[in-house]
Amino acid sequence: MAKEELECSFCGRKKPETNLLIAGLDAHICDRCIEQAHGIVIEESKQNDSSDLSAELKLRKPLQIKEFLDEYIIGQDMTKKVMSVAVYNHYKRLLQPPTNDDIEIQKSNIIMVGQTGTGKTLMAKTIAKMLNVPLAIVDATVLTEAGYVGEDVESILTRLLQAADYNLEKAEKGIVFIDEIDKIARKSDNPSITRDVSGEGVQQALLKLLEGTVVNVPPKGGRKHPDQKFIEVNTENILFIAGGAFDGIERHISKRLNMQAVGYSASMSDENVDQSNLLQYIIPKDLKDFGLIPEIIGRLPVLTYMDPLDSKTLRAILTEPKNAIIKQYKKLFNMDEVEFSISDGALDFIVGKAIEYKLGARGLRSLCEEILTDAMFELPSSEDKKLDVTQAYAEEKLTKTTIKKLKAVS
Ligand code: ADP
Repeated sequence: MAKEELECSFCGRKKPETNLLIAGLDAHICDRCIEQAHGIVIEESKQNDSSDLSAELKLRKPLQIKEFLDEYIIGQDMTKKVMSVAVYNHYKRLLQPPTNDDIEIQKSNIIMVGQTGTGKTLMAKTIAKMLNVPLAIVDATVLTEAGYVGEDVESILTRLLQAADYNLEKAEKGIVFIDEIDKIARKSDNPSITRDVSGEGVQQALLKLLEGTVVNVPPKGGRKHPDQKFIEVNTENILFIAGGAFDGIERHISKRLNMQAVGYSASMSDENVDQSNLLQYIIPKDLKDFGLIPEIIGRLPVLTYMDPLDSKTLRAILTEPKNAIIKQYKKLFNMDEVEFSISDGALDFIVGKAIEYKLGARGLRSLCEEILTDAMFELPSSEDKKLDVTQAYAEEKLTKTTIKKLKAVS
């Protein structure tokens, strides 16, 4: 065949009419057909993604969900269990074919109470990873009532759409993690005391989303793009997980427990109460006393708490999860053919400093970073292919000033 007679075997365009003609065994394809075919591949894979979602969700029972969480998160057994059931029920409800009985399974939105750095965000991230659904993480402190400076509550859904690459179907089955929900609690116990922009009004606005409703969402968020078309997002099947430290809620819990102890004989007498972890006794009423409106609490029916991290847990966080910090460093050094090891003494030293300076789990990484920066700087271009971090090495690298610096940023 003469060269100029070559044509695309799909659309028939002659070679000169194309930008590019690629030869296969017995056929040719032009650039335009490649693009079109690529579009089809993407579309198809999107559709398969959503059917994958159902297939995958059907597979995991609560026990398996917990096993998955165990791989990434240390401890927090109670929350893992509660989450596994809630997530399982949520997606079971979602995958259930419509039935004729009048039993409507309600959403199992979740609220997690626990100090910062105890793994609340990690929990939400891990669940989303397991289910392969989009996750939006939003900070409740930036939300304001519509009409005020700040982000409208709808912006949460914009984030979710972005996380889902604007695949509406995926977004509508996604997870929203609302962090710092405690910061929008009513500041005063007196509900009639003027309106507070960042508190109760936001709770009211959130309520709509949690309930399940169709919201007009500006795809780019905010009111800065007045011309953009709205996307209608149905929040009915979106799983909302809220988290907050609720600083000081122990006072409400303790007060309530004391009253119970007085009121109902010694069922909850002092010696039975673990004063070091009062959060484990939390009930919805405590959230109300803290300043969440009852309607919000009602829409977050699954209430769970995070245990504070003790030294044993911090030590395990360093080395045990699937992507534990120490495993990550090992991998990084291995890429430069550096054999990396760290002694038990050094690990205990790091944990000790994290506790001493109240840096929490987040501080573990910063401490490691401080200890290892010199080595990570020098070893890639050095002949030395072995790094053994001992306690003495760690102590030498972690001076008081560096720890102070860490404390300031954390
Ligand atoms: P929170 O949302 O409660 O403030 P995060 O989930 O952001 O806390 O935790 C901060 C970091 O600390 C995580 O990225 C993770 O590396 C680590 N971490 C905290 N708690 C745990 C845990 N229980 N198991 C494993 N890692 C944890």
